[in-house]
Amino acid sequence: MYNPKSLKAEEFINHEEILDTLKYADENKDNYELIDSIIDKAEERKGLTHREASVLLACEDQARIERIYNLAEQIKKDFYGNRIVMFAPLYLSNYCVNGCVYCPYHLKNKTIPRKKLTQDEVRKEVIALQDMGHKRLAIEAGEDPVNNPIEYILECIDTIYSIKHKNGAIRRVNVNIAATTVENYRRLKEAGIGTYILFQETYHKDSYLKLHPTGPKHDYAYHTEAMDRAMQGGIDDVGLGVLFGLELYRYEFAGLLMHAEHLEAAFGVGPHTISVPRIKKADDIDPSAFDNSISDEIFAKLCALIRISVPYTGMIISTRESQQLREKVIRLGVSQISGASRTSVGGYADEERPHDTEQFDVSDQRTLDEVVNWLMSAGYIPSFCTACYREGRTGDRFMTLCKNGQIQNCCHPNALMTLKEYLMDYASEDTRAVGEKLIAKEIEKIPNDKVKEIAKNNLKNIESGKRDFRF
Ligand code: SAM
Repeated sequence: MYNPKSLKAEEFINHEEILDTLKYADENKDNYELIDSIIDKAEERKGLTHREASVLLACEDQARIERIYNLAEQIKKDFYGNRIVMFAPLYLSNYCVNGCVYCPYHLKNKTIPRKKLTQDEVRKEVIALQDMGHKRLAIEAGEDPVNNPIEYILECIDTIYSIKHKNGAIRRVNVNIAATTVENYRRLKEAGIGTYILFQETYHKDSYLKLHPTGPKHDYAYHTEAMDRAMQGGIDDVGLGVLFGLELYRYEFAGLLMHAEHLEAAFGVGPHTISVPRIKKADDIDPSAFDNSISDEIFAKLCALIRISVPYTGMIISTRESQQLREKVIRLGVSQISGASRTSVGGYADEERPHDTEQFDVSDQRTLDEVVNWLMSAGYIPSFCTACYREGRTGDRFMTLCKNGQIQNCCHPNALMTLKEYLMDYASEDTRAVGEKLIAKEIEKIPNDKVKEIAKNNLKNIESGKRDFRF
């Protein structure tokens, strides 16, 4: 029985409900009256249900798809302005006891060298990341209770936060590690993590069991209920995602929105972010072995529909995608991107991009300076802001900020001040020139005069060497 409030995986992600939803979507894909009324509802910016959004996904009428794209763009502008939050993944260890058939870290892969960073190596990686200008990381690790126990992860988090190299600092560590216990989530929260990210990979249980044939990740319910345990452990910013390409995208899309609805129904707060990874080539992994790959066009449609279905949820895209596609989906709703990522364990401290321990091929291989420059030239503000979580604005408190329209008086100046730090400490000459112009223009857009004055003053202080201002 479908029940969004239930804490049982198969009740809040209910297979029959998804099949009914897909049937309903198919039956109504040419029902323009219904489709128009759903788009009208989305225009109210309060989101859509999985059923409504699935009808729009099935719709193939070009004029209506265009209307969806325009609305996604508008919602993106209204809620997130032109800010794009920057982050980098940090791979701690590729030891893994799971058998995920799409992931090069799977236990049976004997060709990939196994590596786990020592604390000294973590320090080197973090200094390399700080020297690029990063302030926000997502740590990644395989699941291995012996090699990467929770104590190891916690120690790495401590090390990361403790490093202050030149003007550098990692101010927010998001965590992407395997599903764990309430107690371990509590310990992660106490260690000061930002978002807990866990991709569902696929919501389709039978496929899930086949794609995760061995190891603790085989347990579909334990994995699917992980976000509930994270919430119970006190983590109220959680990040969802599916690995597109494993199963039929329409099934995954309905599952993803049902998961968001479940978190809202059971805990009163939806997901903080949704990631949209697609399967990539990797050691021992051939993406063509997975026959549900999606075209760039469908991918863009999915991003636009996520944007209008969950307007308050940030959307993340990684360097799995090319510059061209990133450009397109940033316009349609993506609010966070990684830059200059290396997906190998210990990859940042090396001069050359190493490939041996990589988790997947990186499409966008530009430096952070190039990505920052590119974003600014396209009219975006690359933001290194980490203020919300440091001010305790997580979970529903962050949502309240969004809903009260205070983003322009809060996130906007924070973005500009952290960009200014980046320009002062890490940017190339050209990037700095482009950035200074952008800041001068954007600072005038702060609606509250008092806030504007403080922000201008802070910018001057940053210029004279002070750091870390925030609203
Ligand atoms: N080990 C943790 C887990 O199982 O959830 C999380 C870390 S794992 C390094 C991060 C994510 O990478 C996985 O959740 C999966 O979606 C993604 N991934 C694995 N293999 C991939 C591939 N070949 N291409 C793209 N993404 C992949």
